[in-house]
Amino acid sequence: AKETGRSRAMRYSDFMESNASNILEIQNNIRHALDNEEFQLYLQPQAELAGGKVIGFEGLIRWELPGKGMVSPMEFIPVAEQLGIIHRISQWVFQEACRDILLFLEKHYKGVKIAVNVSAVELTRVNFVEDFMGTLGEYGISPANITIELTETVLLETSESHLERLDYLRSQGIELHLDDFGTGYSSLNYLRSLPIDVVKIDQGFIRNITVDKEQMHLTRSIIEIAHNLGKTVIAEGVETKEQMELLKELGCDRVQGYFFARPMTIADTLQFMEGHEMA
Ligand code: C2E
Ligand code: CA
Ligand code: CA
Ligand code: CA
Repeated sequence: AKETGRSRAMRYSDFMESNASNILEIQNNIRHALDNEEFQLYLQPQAELAGGKVIGFEGLIRWELPGKGMVSPMEFIPVAEQLGIIHRISQWVFQEACRDILLFLEKHYKGVKIAVNVSAVELTRVNFVEDFMGTLGEYGISPANITIELTETVLLETSESHLERLDYLRSQGIELHLDDFGTGYSSLNYLRSLPIDVVKIDQGFIRNITVDKEQMHLTRSIIEIAHNLGKTVIAEGVETKEQMELLKELGCDRVQGYFFARPMTIADTLQFMEGHEMA
């Protein structure tokens, strides 16, 4: 069942062939999707390992092409970045996250946090901070209710202006999470140099921790280092009870993954919360 989301999703090549003979057409497809509400924001809970309370949700975009099925974000996000239209998608994601936060607040989940994925490409855009803060303002959302997950950190280390932006966002009360830690692009240096609150250990790292001793030791070390630097640690892609229990032993703070809950629609998420406590 683990692969269903992936196999249901079209591969990039299929997506290109069936939907677009050229770049303009992809661009139009995305515009059309934005105008016709073909995108959805799924939410996946993140839980405290001690006590199992829900501490927040990650927003994950879904694109259902009518009659064609799901297109994976791993396929269209990179295309949108290359085409320079990622900001239109991001803007929609931020707005949708704000609307979802308002739904949670209506139900008195005052401490709700929704994390949105922001890639380096997006962070580089001149008006990023202004637009992001502007959207929060429009919806009257407190910065305490939204989190930024920084992905594709490859560009982050070099640029002063990136750091200034991140410092500013954080000074406004927005939590910053470093995504995919342990993959090629991230390094221990990021832990020291980036103004981040939470380190997210990549799922590729978690996959083998219960069978691979080295992987387990590495994970323990990452958690220790992150803690020594005052960061909170979340593990993603946690699929089994064994992984969850081991992560608890290793001192990990939070988990996200199919074992606890899959990404869900906002309606399913609100229903899920009826059986769970929020931290
Ligand atoms: P990511 O940020 O690393 O997101 C985690 C991915 O792991 C998600 O795939 C999620 O559905 C999946 N996942 C969650 N739990 C488990 C598990 O237990 N096992 C396994 N095998 N997978 C799990 P998804 O939703 O297909 O998203 C893929 C990537 O697309 C994301 O990776 C992120 O980089 C990007 N993405 C998704 N939504 C957005 C968005 O709104 N904006 C941007 N810029 N990127 C997005
Ligand atoms: Ca993420
Ligand atoms: Ca990740
Ligand atoms: Ca990723």
